[in-house]
Amino acid sequence: EGGAESPSLTDGIHVVIDALKLNDVKTIYGVVGIPITDVARLAQASGIRYIGFRHESDAGHAAAAAGFLTKQPGICLTVSAPGFLNGLVALANATTNCFPMVQISGSSERHLVDLQRGDYEEMDQLAAARPFCKAAYRVSRAEDIGRGLARALRTAASGRPGGVYLDIPAAVLGEVIDAQQAQDSLWKPVDPAPRQVPEPAAIDRAVDLLASAERPLVVLGKGAAYAQADETIRNFIESTGVPYVPMSMAKGLLPDDHPQSAATARSLALKRADVVMLVGARLNWLLGHGDAPQWSPDAKFIQVDIEASEMDSNQPIAAPLVGDVGSVMDALVERSKPGQIAVPDEWRAELTAKSDQNVAKMATRLEAARAAHPMKFLGALQAIRDVLDENPESYIVNEGANALDLARNTIGMKVPRHRLDSGTWGVMGIGMGYAIAAAVETGKPVIAIEGDSAFGFSGIELETICRYDLPVVTVVLNNSGVYRGDSLSPTGDPAPTALKARHDLMIQAFGGTGHQATTPEEVASYLRDALASGRPTLIDCVIDPSDGTESGNIAHLNPKGIAGAR
Ligand code: ADP
Repeated sequence: EGGAESPSLTDGIHVVIDALKLNDVKTIYGVVGIPITDVARLAQASGIRYIGFRHESDAGHAAAAAGFLTKQPGICLTVSAPGFLNGLVALANATTNCFPMVQISGSSERHLVDLQRGDYEEMDQLAAARPFCKAAYRVSRAEDIGRGLARALRTAASGRPGGVYLDIPAAVLGEVIDAQQAQDSLWKPVDPAPRQVPEPAAIDRAVDLLASAERPLVVLGKGAAYAQADETIRNFIESTGVPYVPMSMAKGLLPDDHPQSAATARSLALKRADVVMLVGARLNWLLGHGDAPQWSPDAKFIQVDIEASEMDSNQPIAAPLVGDVGSVMDALVERSKPGQIAVPDEWRAELTAKSDQNVAKMATRLEAARAAHPMKFLGALQAIRDVLDENPESYIVNEGANALDLARNTIGMKVPRHRLDSGTWGVMGIGMGYAIAAAVETGKPVIAIEGDSAFGFSGIELETICRYDLPVVTVVLNNSGVYRGDSLSPTGDPAPTALKARHDLMIQAFGGTGHQATTPEEVASYLRDALASGRPTLIDCVIDPSDGTESGNIAHLNPKGIAGAR
């Protein structure tokens, strides 16, 4: 191997690899270039899996998804300045979603950058990263590489998880140091994400409140999924009988067809609940900030969160439960007397009646969509749902406007942490990165359900999927546009929302299998074949261009101004 000149000397690059290995890092997601190409080469040679992407944001999103799935910070490796900035998008998104990841970036020479003398890819990356992540650190001496990584890993994983930036200038990677000194400088954090046990008094306060409720409701969020406390959560829900609604990435924590799920009566459940227990879910825009009329103005909130400052961020929290989900749920079960928390029959009946109504309404819509030609979103999605029922171990990745709203409600999940989606920002562009990480980390098949617009942001990673021969089936719901494909333009140019592509031909260029599907039957049959083959496949579903609503369920977020009603 290159680098070390004599057995007693080593260099920064080797120390980085040794530090990663000591910390059990199994995979690096990145894009190579100056000054980190040898880091990737040496990592691969040393037994760490290196997954090389075409764009740093996708590599970063993959690292973030790996963090969510495994509770170990995912590692993303980027080059200086523009590559770093591309990766920073994913680091910021990971931090917003509370996913642990570490972006390690090479950077240009400090003495040139700091005097702004104009270096190759010059940028003060540490300063640029800081506002967008949980913490940003720089290693300035090879002897600090082990310390820097330990600090980054602990910060990313402990407390509220998030993204950490670790800057390693080229000069440090090239620095030659004594091998023994380097070895002695490395360590692995002990218990990097310790349990955080709640106060008994806080538990009793929450139990009393729940016991007094007439219409209690639990909201499970992706923090609950992340906690990997599945049994404890299930035990609490089932032993109390409290109805619950899952946020999208908490789907499958309990199977979506669970009798206590109020997902199909969600609006009513939120509006009528008098005591609401949030478990790893924030009262942000996704929950209408806890405001009326979406919620009852008299609702009292209990919140389970590892981050104390999350409490009271939107509504008064009557019973804050600061701690990790597993410890808090355990304590709730332990400290409540059997039968103390009970659910009045009227509340259950009210939810069931609404749910029956909604399910019947949806059944009519689904039936109509099944027969429609050209195919509707709901036609293709029912086909995917039926195939997924036969393959419940498959992971679902989901983004798009209509593709997200409609898939979330149509496709039930049976297993925890098997759904990855746009998340807290409601962002597009996570698709292929998340799909690649799910396949790499779990070895299980992945179905990425993508709007045609959303897919475009990371579509080039089809090449990565094919190059590593990953079991990812990308299903593009292609209605030829952002939101929809039938908007007219007053000029000779396409409308701002128009798109046009045969994505099935795109994957063929990289050696994958591409199909165009025009009926739900074709979607189902191509998807079955693809899952059976375990090979990279893309199914381009031709969807009626007039199907789809602008901005999906969140059209109200568009500014109105003098243009008036849309
Ligand atoms: P959703 O979008 O599904 O509603 P959010 O991302 O808004 O979920 O909320 C997740 C919350 O979970 C965050 O506030 C985060 O601090 C919290 N969290 C993450 N991991 C844990 C954990 N192990 N225990 C308790 N809370 C956690």
